[in-house]
Amino acid sequence: MSPKSILITGANRGIGLGLLKQFLKVQDIQILIATCRDPSKAEELNSLKDSRLHILPLNIDCDESISKLYTEVEKIVGEDGLTVLLNNAGILLPYDVEGKKDRRTMLKNIETNAVSTAIITQEFLPLLKKAAEKNGGEGFSINRSAIINISSTAASVEKIDGTFNGPLVAYRMSKSALNSFAKSASIDLAKYHILITSFCPGWVKTDMGGENALFEISDATKTLAGNILTLGDAHHGAFLNSDLTVIPN
Ligand code: NDP
Repeated sequence: MSPKSILITGANRGIGLGLLKQFLKVQDIQILIATCRDPSKAEELNSLKDSRLHILPLNIDCDESISKLYTEVEKIVGEDGLTVLLNNAGILLPYDVEGKKDRRTMLKNIETNAVSTAIITQEFLPLLKKAAEKNGGEGFSINRSAIINISSTAASVEKIDGTFNGPLVAYRMSKSALNSFAKSASIDLAKYHILITSFCPGWVKTDMGGENALFEISDATKTLAGNILTLGDAHHGAFLNSDLTVIPN
């Protein structure tokens, strides 16, 4: 069994596109909604021909864009609701504690990675609740209803050891805030049986990760997508590596 529908943000490149390609290989998934800021420029995404794939515009920093997306997604998924919201879109604007003071750069990291992801999650709750009710069953399952956040080990305060410390400070803050939101939501929304899990995808060769990263996009997303499709009770509220090992917060 697989989730009926999955929506991925930032699916035009990098890890989002990689995850989409992996999920397209799973025939049981009936609806894949790939969002990106400008579909007309998303060449590789548009080249993926599959009748289950819907490509829709979304700028996660814009409330109007989020509301418009909700209306379109509601038409696509109908009474079944949305099974999985996969919050992947993110930015890394370098910020160094020893560098220039720059409120806007610091806030932009936090806005996109934490606040916008929280807002889109809130917006989609009615469709996620609908899926949870419709699919029924016991407890939590990726096949029932789920919110998956792509976070980063950089969010872990316990893991800060000097590696990549300098330019990552605002990014770290943003992903810690995202994890904090996810953990709170996992408690508040538990009554609806919506699974909430945060992942670090590993250090991946994307525009963000850079060419020295450890993992190719195809390898990293194969592991991550495969394990996302197994999530259940034990993973609710957790912060995990792609291989499902726990990352300390
Ligand atoms: P990329 O920079 O390659 O891709 C980022 C994606 O996010 C793009 O699709 C981009 O769209 C989208 N995005 C950024 N801002 C917005 C916005 N305001 N609205 C809509 N979409 C937006 O990054 P990765 O693929 O590497 O990263 C994906 C996720 O994985 C991020 O959350 C990142 O923090 C996380 N991560 C990545 C790691 C790595 O090593 N690569 C390690 C740990 C975590 P556009 O093309 O329009 O800019």
